[in-house]
Amino acid sequence: MSARFGPAGNSDSFSKVHKSSADAPGWIAGLGLDCYEYQCGKGVHVGEETARKVGEKAKEAGIALSLHAPYFINLANPDPEALQKTIGYITSACRVSQWMGAERVVIHSGALMKRTRREAQDIALRSLREVVAACDDQGFGDIILCPETMGKINQLGDLDEVLELCTVDERLLPCIDFGHLYARSLGADDGAEAFDRMLSRVEEVLGRERASRFHSHFSHIEFTPKGGEKCHRTFDDDGGYGPDWTPLAAQVAARGWSSTFICESAGTQAEDALEMKRIYESFR
Ligand SMILES: [Zn+2]
Repeated sequence: MSARFGPAGNSDSFSKVHKSSADAPGWIAGLGLDCYEYQCGKGVHVGEETARKVGEKAKEAGIALSLHAPYFINLANPDPEALQKTIGYITSACRVSQWMGAERVVIHSGALMKRTRREAQDIALRSLREVVAACDDQGFGDIILCPETMGKINQLGDLDEVLELCTVDERLLPCIDFGHLYARSLGADDGAEAFDRMLSRVEEVLGRERASRFHSHFSHIEFTPKGGEKCHRTFDDDGGYGPDWTPLAAQVAARGWSSTFICESAGTQAEDALEMKRIYESFR
């Protein structure tokens, strides 16, 4: 089994030449990449025809699809009306995923909203149970929801919180955003030892088989000492932004895991995904 690599949305180099995301899967496959994360961060506004077209092209090109649900999803909001909206956003994301044949939907964990981490986490756990039940009721039980680790310190979603969210249902997989974890730890979550500790923790909570299929975002990130994540960078940016891909690639290759890595570099996500794949392959 091998890890998979691809871009989050459309890189600048793609958008310069192409207008339609339906062209993306073929273009990505042409580079030698394996997957594509379709972006619905600002809302789920994609129609059935477009979704099916992207799905057909992805199938032809052998590109695995995932979908990023709206950024404003907050599982830790205790308001029942807000939960109904959240369920609506996630089930719409699942509907589009089903049209596309996307296997995974990435969802943000939430914000603390001035609560303690534990209080916020308990609300998020309850919300996620309802989200999973609603997805099952509406026929989306085959779509894998992936709660994401978040980059700002006052957001819910450190690694342990996301792993606990994943215990709500055995189908859930974590979306481990290593850039976010690096930013919220102010640069501490970086290097061979840290990556070994993190991957071992995932395996400890979810078991090896499930851990091996984890979903992931990777990019270099700039952070501030108080808040954590400031912005996504590219591999070419000077300034010493981390985390370092090479030791993580070595760990994933050594474990023989088939994780999915979506590169979220700002503008060069396809090129940087290819660089990630090249380094990973050098360890196999
Ligand atoms: Zn995200």
